Amino acid sequence: MSQQATEQVHGHYIGGEWTTSAGDRPQSGDGSEDTFESENPATGETLATFQRGTEADVDAALEAAEDAFEEWRDLSAIDRAEYLWDIYHELRDRHEELGEIVSQECGKEISEGKADVTEAWHMVEWAAGNARHPHGDVVPSEVPGKDAYMRRKPRGVVGCITPWNFPVAIPFWHMAIALVEGNTVVWKPAEQTPWCAQIIAEMMDDAGIPDGVFNMVQGFGDAGAAITDDDRVDTVLFTGSAEVGHEIASKVGGQPGKLAACEMGGKNGIVVTEEADLDIAVHSAVMSSFKTTGQRCVSSERLIVHEDVYDEFKARFVDIAEDVAVGDPLDAETFMGPAIEADHIEKIRQHNELARDEGANVLVDRFELGDEEIPDGHEGGHWVGPFVYEIDYEPDLRCLNEECFGPHVALLEYSGDIEEAVELHNDTPYGLAGAIISEDYRQINYFRDHAELGLAYANLPCIGAEVQLPFGGVKKSGNGYPSAREAIEAVTERTAWTLNNS
Ligand code: NAP
Repeated sequence: MSQQATEQVHGHYIGGEWTTSAGDRPQSGDGSEDTFESENPATGETLATFQRGTEADVDAALEAAEDAFEEWRDLSAIDRAEYLWDIYHELRDRHEELGEIVSQECGKEISEGKADVTEAWHMVEWAAGNARHPHGDVVPSEVPGKDAYMRRKPRGVVGCITPWNFPVAIPFWHMAIALVEGNTVVWKPAEQTPWCAQIIAEMMDDAGIPDGVFNMVQGFGDAGAAITDDDRVDTVLFTGSAEVGHEIASKVGGQPGKLAACEMGGKNGIVVTEEADLDIAVHSAVMSSFKTTGQRCVSSERLIVHEDVYDEFKARFVDIAEDVAVGDPLDAETFMGPAIEADHIEKIRQHNELARDEGANVLVDRFELGDEEIPDGHEGGHWVGPFVYEIDYEPDLRCLNEECFGPHVALLEYSGDIEEAVELHNDTPYGLAGAIISEDYRQINYFRDHAELGLAYANLPCIGAEVQLPFGGVKKSGNGYPSAREAIEAVTERTAWTLNNS
């Protein structure tokens, strides 16, 4: 955004109108400011200013979404998908530009910024294409002359609450399928990435989506809570931390007629067995632990390595960790960009200290980068480098159980068979993602069958998503409604329909 644009206050998108009218409305109870700023985490500079949503804004958005529901529901899914196809083309046409905006606003390396946009159009393509796919089941009946079907209907108003780290892809994971299925949407994006949210809302507006079908309220957790707590919301789709997701799942999930689909974080592990190709193992670990500065839900913070290959793996991994290029996310040479914000640096620092307190042998500590490592003109950025340690396994170590969401990674050595490695892998309250690196198919199959997770990778980096597959975790990582393909379960109701044809 231009300097001139930063002086403008960008508003919410409610009922087909842009509004910054919170001044006329009751303010947030905590006396906070009416507006907030989006910051470039690589420089600390302000990108743009946004209106902070209040309960009154959420109320207006929910009213608009309720009013728009019946007309939208009564369109055919194919007609609803037409709006999404426009957005699909726009995402493709503006790939470079939007990728750069993602990188500027959330600090992801440029390749990852663009990948975020690619992932978004994959989701939109899948959801819009789904409008022409079989929808429900025709099943045999126990009674001759009776037809039996399972039909799907939209649930109504869907509240979408999204995190900052995939600011374009994850909103579309939620909203594309919700809209094509005939629901209306009220979305509260992450406070750190309002500029990306503004652009998505502009795309919806440009596509001519009917007033009230899509609504976006910028703001903080209080605006999110105003959505989850409101009885007009039939489904909440949440992606974010376990802390917030568990609160939402217990508040909303238990209410009859309401549903909360929550996808949360992980404490993901990579198992490197004695049968591993170490080139693949080191590549997988480096990509998964350090890319996007460890700030992705599938990043691995535990590397579980067999004693026969431990020393060699450690030496090679540490060598790269000492050296990975931290820098300007818009520079194609950069491997790791900045952390998202100053508070997050503090959180990473606390995790690193916790590991030390619990007995870590620190192998790499680049938490404080040297002045020469910080790119010129980026002194105000939130810089942090890899922190790598080895530690003797004990079941209750907090550093092995709590998600850091940064370039913080533990090496654990094991000596037994694959059974022992998987036992270590599973010994965390989370169950999102994990990988095995091995050339022995018995070991791979054992991992596939016994690792407690929702996303498993073999001989690949522990990162990546395909919208044709469910994306989500088990245990503390998810409550059973994975995103992407399976979101259809959370945004539709199923009716058993029987018809006497005799
Ligand atoms: P977060 O702090 O949980 O925030 C997620 C969203 O929830 C934000 O929009 C946030 O608003 C909102 N929120 C906060 N408190 C709320 C409340 N009480 N009620 C309703 N909404 C509330 O997560 P984050 O820091 O943005 O994202 C990082 C986390 O997301 C990590 O744990 C990561 O592992 C997880 N994640 C999971 C997946 C997955 O698919 N499993 C994917 C990506 C990320 P504010 O912006 O104002 O805080």
